[in-house]
Amino acid sequence: MIFETHAHYDDEAFDEDRESLLNSLYEAGIEYVVNVGASIDTTKKTLELTEQFPFVYGAVGVHPSETAELDEEKFKWLKEAALLKKVVAIGEIGLDYYWDTPERQIQKEWFNRQMELALEVKLPAIIHSRDAAADTYDMIKAAGLKETGGVIHCFSYGKEMAKNYLDMGFYLGIGGVVTFKNAKKLKEVVEYAPIEQLILETDCPYLAPEPNRGKRNSSLNLIYVAKEIAALKSIPYEEVISITEQNAKTMYGIK
Ligand SMILES: [Zn+2]
Repeated sequence: MIFETHAHYDDEAFDEDRESLLNSLYEAGIEYVVNVGASIDTTKKTLELTEQFPFVYGAVGVHPSETAELDEEKFKWLKEAALLKKVVAIGEIGLDYYWDTPERQIQKEWFNRQMELALEVKLPAIIHSRDAAADTYDMIKAAGLKETGGVIHCFSYGKEMAKNYLDMGFYLGIGGVVTFKNAKKLKEVVEYAPIEQLILETDCPYLAPEPNRGKRNSSLNLIYVAKEIAALKSIPYEEVISITEQNAKTMYGIK
């Protein structure tokens, strides 16, 4: 069955039908969901979802664009949250030079602290990296994050950078963008990377794949992502589903 490795069901876009939508996933072939925190508030909401739904696991962390809110007290809370049973990753954390706020020094400081946390609690990291390829890679390498591993979520760089992460044992998170006509670079990366290091993600409510591009995204759309990967790699759709599910279970430590 499908493993949704990156969703934001805490988002207000799901306020009207969150419960019925999540309860409909299993019948649609989706076995597990990891809901990903992006701030202290959305991490709290993520923890609530993990309590409410048996198949929802959580990642705790603060997105680079939200790092200005962090202080020692909040970081301490994050550390405690990381120890909860259904928390399977630290994320999403990283660098975002597209929005480029707060200033890079603050983003870097909290990226480092959250990588240290991942190493301390021995959980994989979910990395968000936008327009910050070189700095992200240098910092991950310097931090020794290879030890816990993780995923470069919504991978958006080229084959060379993909090779760097694949060599370190990281997974690449593949979502709706791979179905876009103009996503030539990502299609090349998917062709190139071993299927054993790819995982399926939506980043919902954002980034819906074709044929639903522009609409609210949900895990129900992962079939289109898996179909595109199957076509690009010339392997059966069922194989994409089962191998990426196994990859996600291995990465998140879910048996
Ligand atoms: Zn996300």
